[in-house]
Amino acid sequence: MSLLITGGTGYIGSHTVVELQALASKQGTEQDIVIVDDLSNSSTKVLDRIKQITHKTVTFIKADICDYDAMKAVFEQHDIEAVIHFAGHKAVGESNEKPLSYYYNNVSGTVILLRVMAEQNVKKLVFSSSATVYGDNVSPLNETMPTSATNPYGQTKLMVEHILFDLAKSDSDWSIACLRYFNPIGAHNSGLIGENPNGIPNNLLPYVAQVAVGRLAQLQVFGDDYDTVDGTGVRDYIHVVDLAQGHVKALQNLDKISGCKAINLGTGNGTSVLEIVNTFKEISGQDIPYKIVPRRAGDLATVYANADLANELLDWQATRNLHTMIEDTWRWQSENPQGF
Ligand code: NAD
Ligand code: UDP
Repeated sequence: MSLLITGGTGYIGSHTVVELQALASKQGTEQDIVIVDDLSNSSTKVLDRIKQITHKTVTFIKADICDYDAMKAVFEQHDIEAVIHFAGHKAVGESNEKPLSYYYNNVSGTVILLRVMAEQNVKKLVFSSSATVYGDNVSPLNETMPTSATNPYGQTKLMVEHILFDLAKSDSDWSIACLRYFNPIGAHNSGLIGENPNGIPNNLLPYVAQVAVGRLAQLQVFGDDYDTVDGTGVRDYIHVVDLAQGHVKALQNLDKISGCKAINLGTGNGTSVLEIVNTFKEISGQDIPYKIVPRRAGDLATVYANADLANELLDWQATRNLHTMIEDTWRWQSENPQGF
């Protein structure tokens, strides 16, 4: 039996593939993995790096999840038992400019994948949702809070969540973990895989890392007048390997989930922008010039998780601290200054 990982050459997908293989090695078993990715935001170079880390080969199929025939062929040619679905576009700003592209890729693409899964009787799914579905609820955020979204990207995550809840309600054979990620950062400690954004990064950590390595001149800090520890925005940063291990645990515990369950994957701790900058400076030994600029539209002051449910249901909690997250980010960035 194989696991299908859509978006498996991307940032979180590649780390999850490594953790799935690490678990199989620990258990002395083999794990067949099929990655489907259209390479719209990743490269096949990741596959060599995964092999260097795990000494295992995965099956890679270049395909678009929106392509029904191609997805059907994947299921007909491989004995898939469960799917971890990472494939999707993820840039909030771009989603405002190209809403149709986001709704088509993230929502229609997921519906096509689900249709094929239903037809092939594969009804175990782990889905990449996001803390963005909490809208402007006050942190700590827990899974019972009402959801909302403020941009097309967030809407796509929320729409897919609604689709998954309706699907599970309609057919009790489905087991679905809807994992709501907080802010993934860091990289595998080998320095071989990490986040490799296209163009100028939107997210804080890749931006800071590229300033530290000299690719970008200066960080813009979006606002220092929030009601937080130092006036800058606070987020719940989580090591990508902890996040990846959360997927492994979700898969192992899918049988315990009847229907569709939303589960936070965060640390429960908040860190400000300036705390990130100062820790990065200390660990990298590099200067990180920054300038305070006005707040970014749509940003909240403070966002962090209540991560109790993941602990209860999945026996999972994040174990890597901010120092490790930044040390691993810096190793990846300094050893691969231009990415893959
Ligand atoms: P990523 O861009 O690195 O990985 C996504 C992968 O999906 C890429 O390799 C891309 O080529 C592929 N892809 C996109 N559309 C596809 C399609 N139609 N068919 C096949 N492949 C396709 O992003 P990531 O950071 O690894 O994020 C993975 C998932 O987690 C995404 O769904 C994202 O929305 C979600 N998420 C990410 C974050 C974050 O901060 N990174 C936070 C919350 C949720
Ligand atoms: N941020 C910043 N400068 C940047 C990018 C982000 O000051 O170039 C701040 C942003 O305002 C927020 C935090 O860093 O307070 C995390 O932003 P990111 O975009 O990484 O995540 P999100 O806001 O989506 O949680």
